[in-house]
Amino acid sequence: MAVNKKIIIKTLEEIALHMELLGENPFKVGAFRKAAGVLEQDPRSLAEMDDILSLKGIGKGTGAVITDLLEKGESELLGELREQVPDGLIPLLKIPGLGGKKIAKLRGELGIDSAESLRAACEAGEVSKLSGFGKKTEEKILAELETFGQRPDKLPHWQLEPVVRMIETVLDSIPEAERYMVTGSYRRTAEMSSDLDFIIVTKKPDQVNAALAGALPVIGTDASGEAKLSVTVNADEPVDVDFRFVSEEQFASAIHHFTGSKDHNVRMRQIAKERGEKISEYGVEQEDGSVLTFDSEENFFAHFGLPFIPPTVRKDGTELERTDELKTLIRPEDIRSDLHMHTVWSDGAESVREMAEACRELGYSHIVITDHSRYLRVANGLTPERLRDQIREVRAVDAELDGITVLCGTEMDILPDATLDFDDELLSELDFVIASIHSNFSQPQEKIMERLHAAISNPHVDMIAHPTGRIIGRRDGYSPDVAQLIEWAAEYGKILELNANPYRLDLAEEWLVLAAEKGVPIAVNTDAHSVGQLSYMDTGVRYAQRAWLDRDMIVNTWTLDRFLSHLGRKQ
Ligand SMILES: [Zn+2]
Ligand SMILES: [Zn+2]
Repeated sequence: MAVNKKIIIKTLEEIALHMELLGENPFKVGAFRKAAGVLEQDPRSLAEMDDILSLKGIGKGTGAVITDLLEKGESELLGELREQVPDGLIPLLKIPGLGGKKIAKLRGELGIDSAESLRAACEAGEVSKLSGFGKKTEEKILAELETFGQRPDKLPHWQLEPVVRMIETVLDSIPEAERYMVTGSYRRTAEMSSDLDFIIVTKKPDQVNAALAGALPVIGTDASGEAKLSVTVNADEPVDVDFRFVSEEQFASAIHHFTGSKDHNVRMRQIAKERGEKISEYGVEQEDGSVLTFDSEENFFAHFGLPFIPPTVRKDGTELERTDELKTLIRPEDIRSDLHMHTVWSDGAESVREMAEACRELGYSHIVITDHSRYLRVANGLTPERLRDQIREVRAVDAELDGITVLCGTEMDILPDATLDFDDELLSELDFVIASIHSNFSQPQEKIMERLHAAISNPHVDMIAHPTGRIIGRRDGYSPDVAQLIEWAAEYGKILELNANPYRLDLAEEWLVLAAEKGVPIAVNTDAHSVGQLSYMDTGVRYAQRAWLDRDMIVNTWTLDRFLSHLGRKQ
């Protein structure tokens, strides 16, 4: 992996955390945190820093880590520290209220090195006797430990994605695996899936089976044979994975069958039955008992007189009556812009120019640079002065670069008291203004709606980003009245975002459907904090398909002229 600034910052922070867990001298720990902070605050990307080691706040120890990262792509020190920290300690960080310092104390004074020993100590009342803990904390920890380590029924798409990539890398290294595809609800871009299903074309299932079992971090095997391998793979959370071995001829029917959904398959089987045919996992059985196979999923559908139905809309079966709408369904190739991204000016990893060049590479015609505003201190949000400096830089980059238009914007915080972080005068100097909530999620809905109304009714605000603040499988966000927000968007002519970050996918599907009904334009944005995250667009577009969004209502499919005239501004 190419080392960027974010990776260096993360490594320094992780070293600090591991040192803290090991009870290291606080000054040493502090030095690593400070170095991370210095890099976070520096407005330059890694490529623009020729003096990284001489920066104030980077010392000998932290400098050595940075050199290590730049030369080898990884930190030897972090590797050593990881070895020293007991395996059971890191998961304890997931317990709310337990940070590195507190866990170090539990380890130092009570010898705690796992959830089990922590539970025992709490039950014996030992934890509450430590200074800084108390009876209430002890009870809270015990309550958290109740559900600790339990396997969730379903895992979010974002959590499965790295597991899918890992498996794909293994499959790519097995020559006998000629072709493969991940199917199931994951392929349909469902928010959550209970397992992963891979279909693999091979003439030597035994060899592929053995190679997979040997290369994957398997912690349990359910079935293992010529047709199928079912294992549990060790990742952040354990993941159940089924591998099915098929022949080249069976592949198209198999990926269709195992992609589902169940209701989609039921509907397809009805259609087949009406024609005297029978769909199985591996082909379409004819009345005479022979089995038809297909060289592609497209041809499988064509056999039934249907166009290709994207996996994302294979849902309750009604999609088979909506094939006309497929002609204008949003597709990845329709996207020509990304309207929400961060740079080193706030908490992004790359410079304005680097983000712009990467987007040009993706074939976009225009983008908007939208760094955080001053309220978001943790993200090094921009003061009005810094935003004006940034506007100058963005204009300069735009003038220098051919082939892409770079617009000035902001992701402005909507403050807890329902005011906006920048005044109207400053906002009027920008091409595109995003407003969003990053704080005080627990306010009553009424107050949250007051904040959202203040933003959406402001004539300078063009879009509300990640409108609910949810993180899939982690937190619900600030629970606004989304139906009301959609009404307001229609009334004030504002854009709502589908944030394509796989953690967010916010707005959710049901709300996208309602927004479409009300004619509210949607922007699918990556909210990228690095060049690599620009690829979130693909997940975002696939998720938008689930809501049957028409490409014409997606702002990022519009030409620059249409976009600007919609905003009512001239450059
Ligand atoms: Zn945001
Ligand atoms: Zn953002």
